[in-house]
Amino acid sequence: MGLMTPKQYRESLKDGRLVYIYGKKVEDVTTDPALKVGVDTAAIDYELAEMPEYRDLAVVEDPDLGGEPVSRYYYIPRNAEDLIKRHELMVAATRLGGCVIPFSHDIAADALNAINVTANMMGKPEYVERAENYRKHLKKTDLSSSAAMTDVKGNRVLRPSSPQQTHPDFYVHMVDKNKDGIIVRGAKVHITAAAYLNELMVIPTRNMVEEDKDYAVAFAIPANTKGVKQICHPMHTKLSDMEFPVDHPVRTHTDSLIIFDDVFVPWERVFLCGEWQFAMPLVYNFAVLHRHTAASYRIPSSELLLGVAQAMAEYNGIERVSHIREHITDLVMYVNTLKSLARASCIDYVMHGGIPIPNPVISNIAKYQFASNFHTFVKIVQDIAGGLAATLPSYQDYQNPELKADIDKYLGGKAGIPTENRLRMLNLMRRMLTYENEIVAVHAEGSLQAQRMTVLAEAQPDIQEYKKWAEIAAGIKS
Ligand SMILES: Cc1cc2nc3c(=O)[nH]c(=O)nc-3n(C[C@H](O)[C@H](O)[C@H](O)COP(=O)(O)OP(=O)(O)OC[C@H]3O[C@@H](n4cnc5c(N)ncnc54)[C@H](O)[C@@H]3O)c2cc1C
Repeated sequence: MGLMTPKQYRESLKDGRLVYIYGKKVEDVTTDPALKVGVDTAAIDYELAEMPEYRDLAVVEDPDLGGEPVSRYYYIPRNAEDLIKRHELMVAATRLGGCVIPFSHDIAADALNAINVTANMMGKPEYVERAENYRKHLKKTDLSSSAAMTDVKGNRVLRPSSPQQTHPDFYVHMVDKNKDGIIVRGAKVHITAAAYLNELMVIPTRNMVEEDKDYAVAFAIPANTKGVKQICHPMHTKLSDMEFPVDHPVRTHTDSLIIFDDVFVPWERVFLCGEWQFAMPLVYNFAVLHRHTAASYRIPSSELLLGVAQAMAEYNGIERVSHIREHITDLVMYVNTLKSLARASCIDYVMHGGIPIPNPVISNIAKYQFASNFHTFVKIVQDIAGGLAATLPSYQDYQNPELKADIDKYLGGKAGIPTENRLRMLNLMRRMLTYENEIVAVHAEGSLQAQRMTVLAEAQPDIQEYKKWAEIAAGIKS
């Protein structure tokens, strides 16, 4: 089949999947007024592959398939250059998507690579073969896929199999198996774009002990598989009437609660089944890859917010005031730290399970510095912009001839800057700094503590080396 066109991608979603949003069953996700916006956002990956200026980033002539063109996401990187190109692809796709990443291949590629790496580590030939066959299938079909890791979890401090959990289905688990495959039950939550992607790649969310072995499952199934039900969270798919209209479309995603109600998975799509010792390595392998994806796609929105801050400083005539210059300097340092770390993690890659991956210490620091300092970054932008961001009149007021002259006169800033520009910039800022976006910054791609734990674990060899140097410097003889 080869690379899919955007049209083929949309057609492929008319597959009878069971999806609900706003309390109603969706007949066709490509025409549903809300989900259609998500489909258009996910389709950017397919559009980008057709644009001559991005072709080299988005498409690889795969030597493993005799030079057949495949999505860069499904190609196994060989070196730093491959990792940097993938990073640049994610940044480019997010910029094209108005600061929203398409999510149609990127997160799935992290799960796919993690499955591959873990299969290599397990040394079980059947898992290696299944992982390779599945990768080949994705390369040849160019199907989109989500990565469903986060279980609903119930009481977080209890194990998946703990009898103290109020029911046994807080984590996806195997309830039966036969000669053809396994049957799974449970639910995953927050799964981005799953409602309009072709496949669901499912992996565990935490470490397991032997009693949890039925919960140590990883598999991939089409999103229209019998027994799969998705409940989508509401999406901001259009500007409200009070906002100034813009020419470009709104880009956004929904995230699904996915319920697996005794779903059959054929053996060739099962990548972990009871090997509880490998649940944590699989989670870990996914997380270290995914934090780099997270750091990459946060770059365009961070740059845009810095642009908003600078524009508002200039519109209000305060761009040369000393504390505002200090504020802008802080924003520049935040953005460039993120960009530098995301790129450095590709250059300083490590080999892991036979695959080069972005340096886990650096990519986790990149994601952590983005997330843990995001609210400070936002506070600075808000301080520069002033309180009007909260109290500005609506676009309808500005359209009213009885009010426009007053608004133009009294809400103007520096001479020469149209009041409308000032109001438009504040509109953009309000759209970018929603309460939801603040939560997403903290939690998407794992909580802050998850990044700190990875940094500490991955930095152990360095820490021990530094300790040795300290002992030598202190004259301590071993
Ligand atoms: C917008 C968005 C998109 C997302 N997209 C995806 C996706 O596509 N695929 C996917 O798989 N996931 C996705 N996630 C999930 C994301 O990875 C989780 O939100 C994150 O891992 C936190 O999990 P949680 O939301 O269940 O919060 P919780 O796990 O409840 O975390 C809340 C707090 O509890 C702490 N905590 C939790 N468990 C323990 C424990 N056992 N011991 C000590 N402390 C604990 C955490 O460290 C944190 O401080 C997405 C999340 C968001 C917000």
